[in-house]
Amino acid sequence: MTSPLEHLAAPEPDGSPSGIWPMNVDRVGGELTIGGVSASDLVAQFGSPLYVIDEGDMRARAHAWKSAIDESFADLAGGDVFYAGKAFLSVAAARWMAEEGLSIDTCSEGELRTAIAAGVPGSKIGLHGNNKSRAEIELALQAGVAHVVVDSLAELALVEQVAGQRGQTAPIVLRVTTGVHAGGHEYISTAHEDQKFGLSISTGAALRAVEETLAASHLELVGLHSHIGSQILAVEAFQAAANAILALRAEISALHGVTVPEIDFGGGYAIRYTVIDDVPPAPLTYTAALAGAVTAHVVESGLAAPRVSIEPGRSIVGPAGITLYTVGTIKNVELEEGSRRYVSVDGGMSDNIRPALYEADYTAALASREPFDEQVRSRVVGKHCESGDILVKDVALSASLGPGDLLAVPATGAYGRSMASNYNMLPRPGVVAVSDGSVKQLIRRETVEDLLTFDEDA
Ligand SMILES: *Cc1c(COP(=O)(O)O)cnc(C)c1O
Repeated sequence: MTSPLEHLAAPEPDGSPSGIWPMNVDRVGGELTIGGVSASDLVAQFGSPLYVIDEGDMRARAHAWKSAIDESFADLAGGDVFYAGKAFLSVAAARWMAEEGLSIDTCSEGELRTAIAAGVPGSKIGLHGNNKSRAEIELALQAGVAHVVVDSLAELALVEQVAGQRGQTAPIVLRVTTGVHAGGHEYISTAHEDQKFGLSISTGAALRAVEETLAASHLELVGLHSHIGSQILAVEAFQAAANAILALRAEISALHGVTVPEIDFGGGYAIRYTVIDDVPPAPLTYTAALAGAVTAHVVESGLAAPRVSIEPGRSIVGPAGITLYTVGTIKNVELEEGSRRYVSVDGGMSDNIRPALYEADYTAALASREPFDEQVRSRVVGKHCESGDILVKDVALSASLGPGDLLAVPATGAYGRSMASNYNMLPRPGVVAVSDGSVKQLIRRETVEDLLTFDEDA
């Protein structure tokens, strides 16, 4: 069992902020502070539960990815980092990413319009998705997006039609599946064959899409894309996928005499959720491995180096965010192997679905006061009507924990708010950003009144 002390892992010695907690987390008088603001002040002002993002940490992670790409691909053709907005997007967050030199990946009208509202130029926005609507494609082309990542032959035809009607040429990146299977859980592994994403290299669908793109009058083939999953620690998985997609680039050159200008290696870079998790490779380790694959491809094929892009989401915002909860009911359950203390908090699977969806592990720490007294094996659960409504399966927490104490769950910045629901008619928590002792509200907390406005009482 681990103590809360160990959970306050410092930034890594090489300076990359790859710990579990945001870089600007501290304890002052026993109380957890983030960005210089105490947990209790945040909850007093913005309610509980509350998502808190350390702006400096999120910016630093974005910057680290951009620097890593710039460094690793300096002698090749350079590259771009597209922040995967689905991990967490707000207008301010999109603006921060643009300020750090990143582009934004979107995959719906809502994400696209958030990036546009942030003033991100279309040339720094990508559109993804396996089932884009005509309206989404129109909006993307109107905004002049960097590329539309096309997922199927049917979609290729739709984009051709929309681009033709608009009198435009659509920049197309083809999403291919390399057969490389990686990621912590089957549902977040997206490059093997039996799933909904992409155009398979092995069945020939990818090459067919290339032919159709080249033959179309309103499409320009600007790139190939591969995304192999999420929460991937193994650099070799990215290398294997890179080799497969680069081989496809060489084959396209041989077959069609066309050098595809860009290669997008997708996202999926791992973060640490608990101290038991492996420390993930630094951004530069991943990008150096990708650059190695690109260099070998350039040497072997004799083709010009492609411009590259990557799409990290989780690894930028995940560790930058924590969730604060207020403790309510505490119950001891007697088990054969001893007793387990169930600590109920005022949120749950509606603000963090990942444990229920992927059996994701998290940790927690007492935030509102000194946590280092006698520890008790605990399970942190939500307030929803499901026994699977577990936030933290197993964690040592203070024996003196009681109603009104605040708990902090780290590494909830990605896929927390963005996957939140109103299950049990719970209003979704707000999102605040902290930086140098000041707080900004990125997304205001919902109220039950908000939810009732959707009810037409018909
Ligand atoms: C989800 C996704 C990402 C981001 O994944 P992370 O695990 O958050 O880095 C990037 N690209 C595509 C196509 C995705 O579907």
